[in-house]
Amino acid sequence: MKTPSSPAGCGRLWAARLALLGLLTLPAGAPLFAASAPFGVPVRVSFKFFLNNLGNRPATGELNTDAEIEAQVVRGNQILAAWTSELRVHNVEIVDVAGHSEWYNATTDDRDAIRAAAIANPAGYAWRNNAVNVYITANTGCSARSQFPPDNDIIIVCQSIYDTTVMHELGHSLNLYHTHQSGGNDGCADTLPDDEDWTRDQIATNAYGMVYALLNSTQQYQVNMVWSNLMSYHNGDHRWMMSSCQLDRASTQASSDQTWLLTKRPVYVDGGYAGTQNGTFPQPYTTIQNAINAGVLNSRVLVLDQGTHDNPSSAITTATDVVPRKGSATVREAKLPYDLPANLEESKNPRVREAVVRAQFADRQRDVLSVITHLLEAEQHATGRERDALRFELAQRYRDLQRFDEASAWFEKAAAGADQPGLKRRAQEKADAMKAELKRQKQLQDEGEENDDKRNEKQAEKKGNP
Ligand SMILES: [Zn+2]
Repeated sequence: MKTPSSPAGCGRLWAARLALLGLLTLPAGAPLFAASAPFGVPVRVSFKFFLNNLGNRPATGELNTDAEIEAQVVRGNQILAAWTSELRVHNVEIVDVAGHSEWYNATTDDRDAIRAAAIANPAGYAWRNNAVNVYITANTGCSARSQFPPDNDIIIVCQSIYDTTVMHELGHSLNLYHTHQSGGNDGCADTLPDDEDWTRDQIATNAYGMVYALLNSTQQYQVNMVWSNLMSYHNGDHRWMMSSCQLDRASTQASSDQTWLLTKRPVYVDGGYAGTQNGTFPQPYTTIQNAINAGVLNSRVLVLDQGTHDNPSSAITTATDVVPRKGSATVREAKLPYDLPANLEESKNPRVREAVVRAQFADRQRDVLSVITHLLEAEQHATGRERDALRFELAQRYRDLQRFDEASAWFEKAAAGADQPGLKRRAQEKADAMKAELKRQKQLQDEGEENDDKRNEKQAEKKGNP
């Protein structure tokens, strides 16, 4: 396909033309970066740099580049994933805010003034009411400060910060207190008393009357939980632990703020819960089936509490992600709606038996093509459910070799010959899926060829027009 030639360097001109037409505006905040939502329950975070009077970001610092922001986001998501939290940090955008150099050197003490100014002039500050707004300043004399609910939509970050600071501040936005909260009360009984200046041994001695090295492994784990806690002031670059209670507090807050804070809303299922069910974290559904029945799963994230859940009797037909929480969640699988033999090496038909044994031998040699040859031979001599099983197996082998046309044909054959309705239905579904995959691959291939054409055209242009 021919496309109009677009010589290098005309991008800016094109943008200017669009601006004249009013199609592209570059106000105070033009997003420079936007990441797609992470899998899980994404907490929306919008990053903003206050620029100086020349329109620049700080040239040096701990958080003065897009890469450094993305590193904080990645670290935050690693911490959440380590505890199988359902929550993830969603970096919605990184915006340069011009025209407010009065805040270029702002400190964390300016948080409330900046929030008030931004809410009064959302366009000028790229303020969002559907995300936590992180304003980054050039000040090297301060760290960061967020706000507890209900005003948990702002964080000020200066340049004196650790690798985990953004996630720590988001912890506060999600209602987590410091492990050294004054009065020793961080709202969580599963974190030991802490002081921001204590050593690991001081935490141990205070709790157990012994230094860390003398504690048993359970006690050491409890000390670690504070010493390396995300919400502590120890080990700034390496904080990563979160207690069960902290995970629950964060989920409770995110669930409560879901309409403005989350890119995708969660629907919680916890089999151990009893009480009114509405799918929020405090009032989860007790079964997957209840969540399906409530009709609330479309474009949502189904969050399954750790443990085993009953397989729902109806299928989830909506666009729904499923994630576990606090540990692996298992859904009790229903058995396939048909029976097929898997012991064809004991077939009463000697020709089937011998071909299958040869296939098994080839399988041990990892010689897939020989496996297929022997299965094909067995299929020719087999009858009934033995033949069904061989056809299904051949389809699966071709599928795993990415030979989707042959896979589709064998699933079709399995469907056509099956006497069991469940097998007929499933084999036909699989055949259709193979055809769809074949089509997708062909489209990808066509697009690739088209790109090659374009590349060749471009190269021709370059040669003719240096
Ligand atoms: Zn803090």
